[in-house]
Amino acid sequence: MINKIKDILQNRHAYINLLSHWGLKYKCPFCGFHSKDLLPTGIDNPTIRKYQIIGAGKRNACCPKCGSIDRDRLVYIYLKYELDIFKKPQTRVLHIAPEINLANQFLKHRFTNYICGDFYAEGQHADYSKDFVKHMDVQNLPFADNSFDLIICNHVLEHVFDEKKATQELFRVLAKCGQAILQVPISPILEKTISDTTITDGAILEEKFGQKDHVRLFGNDYKYILESQGFSIQELKLQQKYSKYGLNPDEILFIGKK
Ligand SMILES: [Zn+2]
Repeated sequence: MINKIKDILQNRHAYINLLSHWGLKYKCPFCGFHSKDLLPTGIDNPTIRKYQIIGAGKRNACCPKCGSIDRDRLVYIYLKYELDIFKKPQTRVLHIAPEINLANQFLKHRFTNYICGDFYAEGQHADYSKDFVKHMDVQNLPFADNSFDLIICNHVLEHVFDEKKATQELFRVLAKCGQAILQVPISPILEKTISDTTITDGAILEEKFGQKDHVRLFGNDYKYILESQGFSIQELKLQQKYSKYGLNPDEILFIGKK
């Protein structure tokens, strides 16, 4: 009985707290909540500030109701409004290191060819079920050529040992006329991507690349890295068109086509 009362009070508190964010400035495309502000998310460190890394850093970008963040909303808006993908449940989709709120949309719309994968390193904690998200290495994908109409690979390539091999693999398994969403944290002040895969010390990686499990930081040559592996790249900015959705004004959507 006491626990039940505690639950009711907690729910009431959460509800009142949520209402304090209600407003007309933003609308979350995932949960539909209208808010006057967004909550802080992300980490801050001198490297992120030094390189002005887009897609990282502490910022007000989190939905007060469902917790979605700016970069997930950008991908979702592209899929929902630009591709109308959720009306095409036959689409063959490969989702690497899936964002749960995005994955839930594919499940809700009963996609019949939706595959999720992630690399489970030893000792790594996974937030999702391994039945749902299969172990796979993006540098050596277990699929035939031209297997997917859509690939989502959002903030993955900065973690892998060989980003060129990973990009090659993504291109190989993408079907002709398919598209791959290839987001990474990127520094607009860095002409060339910097990388060092010999470093294993998290503190040094954070100091060099902005996060303790990143082995590179992409620069303005990112597009050419993707193109060198075969992709034809389209760079999209959707912030003006979808200004209510609390997107990062600097984030570019990198769409790779075959
Ligand atoms: Zn939301």
